[in-house]
Amino acid sequence: MRLLDGVRRVLLVHAHPDDETLATGALIAELVDRGVEVHVVTATRGERGELMPGVAAVEPGSPAYVAHRERELSAALTALGVAHHATLGMPPARHRAAAGPRRYRDSGMQWIRPGLAGPADDSGPESLTAATVHDAAADLAAYVKATAPELLISYDAGGGYGHPDHVRTHEVTTEVSRTHGIPMLEVIPPDRSVDGDPTAIEWAEMSRHLARVQQALRAHASQVLLDGPDVVHVGGQREPIVTRVGLRRVTP
Ligand SMILES: [Zn+2]
Repeated sequence: MRLLDGVRRVLLVHAHPDDETLATGALIAELVDRGVEVHVVTATRGERGELMPGVAAVEPGSPAYVAHRERELSAALTALGVAHHATLGMPPARHRAAAGPRRYRDSGMQWIRPGLAGPADDSGPESLTAATVHDAAADLAAYVKATAPELLISYDAGGGYGHPDHVRTHEVTTEVSRTHGIPMLEVIPPDRSVDGDPTAIEWAEMSRHLARVQQALRAHASQVLLDGPDVVHVGGQREPIVTRVGLRRVTP
């Protein structure tokens, strides 16, 4: 892909454990194969997620559940070949003047209609969407200063499918891109209508990375299961595994 040419270090910014694989697993595998140094920052720990029946004896929302999802994320990143990961609000993704770490919690979501998510009614004061873009961007900027990526990648303005944490993650990443002068690409979800100029989107088929994406998806067994070419979410939503990647430059 032309948009990735010449880039040596990339930071992908995601909202929850599993998004790095669901939305950008094939893209990450492609970057790793190109010899790019790939960094991933995850904003929340997916505290509001559900649990696939029978995979773990942990209560959703409990500390054990969060620890389980962190282990799943770690295994998925290993499967994709990512060696650099941080959680937003934890050093090095925490701004210097801060007194201590900050936890950005999963805001939760509800389905407004099939395929379009909206915020949960009870997202809480520690949720990612309750924090200001400015505060979250300061923490992301600390990671950027520490690692000097040449390119930022995150969701499109609609957050892929509308999850409020994804929308906020797009806003936070865009803010850091603008203030630090680092180009940002947005990931265009396949088979969805998109705002803006569709001719500016560069598409690439990356099904050659399918085996690695499947391995990473299997690491997220509390959230998804594989069924042939499809991934089935804990809530029952089914979609093809994403191997067709669309990217569009957001800034500068
Ligand atoms: Zn997500």
